[in-house]
Amino acid sequence: MVEACGRAGRDPAAVRLVAVSKTVPMERILEAHGAGQVVFGESRQQEAAPKVAALPDDIEWHFIGKLQRNKVRKVLPDFSCLHGVDSMKLAQAIDRVAGELELRPKLFLEVNLAGEESKGGFAPEALLAGMEELVGLPNVEMLGLMVIPPVANVREWFAKAWKLKDQAEERAGIPLPELSMGMSGDYEVAIEEGSTLVRVGSAIFGERAYSV
Ligand SMILES: *Cc1c(COP(=O)(O)O)cnc(C)c1O
Repeated sequence: MVEACGRAGRDPAAVRLVAVSKTVPMERILEAHGAGQVVFGESRQQEAAPKVAALPDDIEWHFIGKLQRNKVRKVLPDFSCLHGVDSMKLAQAIDRVAGELELRPKLFLEVNLAGEESKGGFAPEALLAGMEELVGLPNVEMLGLMVIPPVANVREWFAKAWKLKDQAEERAGIPLPELSMGMSGDYEVAIEEGSTLVRVGSAIFGERAYSV
């Protein structure tokens, strides 16, 4: 990560690592925590709940998976940051429940840059059209955009994400400080293209025994 920052002339402190610990047993998370890692990402509420309950309180848990609206109430108390906010309806549901629970989660709006049917996320146009309303939601903090682009030409997609963030800021009328992009296979390119938060699993913990 530091090397990629060097190549891009970026301050390494401006890029954070979410250690993606889905399928990873608690001992190994604890080990990574002992080595100084504080931010961990999980993608399933049921798998994460016992980990959040048992592991140290200073861990910052990020929910990176697809979030169903009926799971929002369960997820919010455990996760300070949600990466996969993929529709206006979900954002509104999170805002409403956060208000009831007196929480203020940080959100990343997921964008489906390439219009891939297999992936969720706002279409870029829908995102821009909804931006004003999204940043007006009172009980959430809108951090920025999150993308999982196609594997081919990934650098171009990351660059597009950066441009879209600029446009979204303009529509929102406030800065969106963060861009969540980059995984094990492409985090260096993502950093070179402006990522502020990389979500890395297998490059840290090894290949997952099963997929989620
Ligand atoms: C699993 C997952 C990751 C991490 O993937 P790796 O390739 O293991 O680094 C990142 N982001 C999301 C949304 C994921 O589901």
